[in-house]
Amino acid sequence: MSTETEKTNDDRRKYEFRKVIEELQEYEGSGTQLVTIYIPEDKQIADVVAHVTQEHSEAANIKSKQTRTNVQDALTSIKDRLRYYDTFPPENGIVIFSGAVDSSGGRTEMVTKTLESPPDPIESFRYHCDSNFLTEPLEHMLADKGLFGLIVLDRREANVGWLKGKRVEPVKSASSLVPGKQRKGGQSAQRFARLRLEAIDNFYQEVAEMANDLFVPKRHEIDGILVGGPSPTKDEFLDGDYLHHELQDTVLGKFDVSYTDESGLYDLVDAGQEALSDQAIVEDKNQMEEFFENLHTGEKATYGFEQTRRNLIMGSVDRLLLSEDLRSDVVIYECPNGHEEYEVIDSRHTTPDHECSECREEGEVQDREDVIEHLMGIAEQRGTETIFISTDFEKGEQFHDAFGGIGGILRYSTGV
Ligand SMILES: [Zn+2]
Repeated sequence: MSTETEKTNDDRRKYEFRKVIEELQEYEGSGTQLVTIYIPEDKQIADVVAHVTQEHSEAANIKSKQTRTNVQDALTSIKDRLRYYDTFPPENGIVIFSGAVDSSGGRTEMVTKTLESPPDPIESFRYHCDSNFLTEPLEHMLADKGLFGLIVLDRREANVGWLKGKRVEPVKSASSLVPGKQRKGGQSAQRFARLRLEAIDNFYQEVAEMANDLFVPKRHEIDGILVGGPSPTKDEFLDGDYLHHELQDTVLGKFDVSYTDESGLYDLVDAGQEALSDQAIVEDKNQMEEFFENLHTGEKATYGFEQTRRNLIMGSVDRLLLSEDLRSDVVIYECPNGHEEYEVIDSRHTTPDHECSECREEGEVQDREDVIEHLMGIAEQRGTETIFISTDFEKGEQFHDAFGGIGGILRYSTGV
């Protein structure tokens, strides 16, 4: 698979997860009866079953009969789901949601959902029982895009790692033999200073090597590098051009951080928050610039469901642009005279009637599908890349509100 196809699949997966999470967030239980279980990939399924069995017997102590029954039913459903797995969960783990949720007319409805292989690994086992499902850890995985390199250093130690989305991943560390500022008796001051500078230089080289080993192979995917540490260490390190020149160009900034152990990597992410959030949407911003420029000056842009769809089918779309916040369905109608027409509606609304615009006959509903799934499906067949656009910046918001969140940059003008 090419990286682009991988990225599209990744985006699609994230979109599918986001949809399920939004659905789960809507649910509420009348009591503390909605159960969520996060299972990391290295947790044995048998242990999880044992845990759930234990919770089931403890639930017998719940005073309210209704809540007790609901919790036990949820746990039974979860145990049923766990039967589908062998020794360990699939890659990155699984999350199971189960419980009796409030539905219309004071009734309840049993809901059980399993999410396999989330975008990031589940870090720890969690059992959660509340009046809502626990979705925050999954939301975090989806919240931010981006891959960033992290380096923290002073003259004694250094740590390098990744920031993947919101997750910090420490990878390697080094410590130096740089002598302190106090020289021993008998050493000449000059010689001592020279040796000390040499040792510092050697350590910077060692840190750069460690960073290069980690980041250079990924240099085309990295969105930027943050460097942290006390002054003047981080400045000396950057000004001395120790890093591979291609990495040097991606440094987003240097930040004051007091610790240079693993915890320093987390401090660095906090300190660099602004630079990070700007950078995470840089790609989206560039896409929007290009889209609006093409819209104003040329004809190599399209928007709206109908036009974008037609261009996609013609194979003229270079990049399909979809707003991350787009939540619509497309309904496909066919009238008795065989005219096929489409209507885009809010996902939460019921399917409306449709009068054929050509012959005024009533159209019969053929299908109702998520608009994003529908357009991405065509894009995949035509080899068109799909890009999701955040609404966290002005033009992204404008794209969603004024252009319906659907558009494309064309390879050539089609007049459609
Ligand atoms: Zn018709």
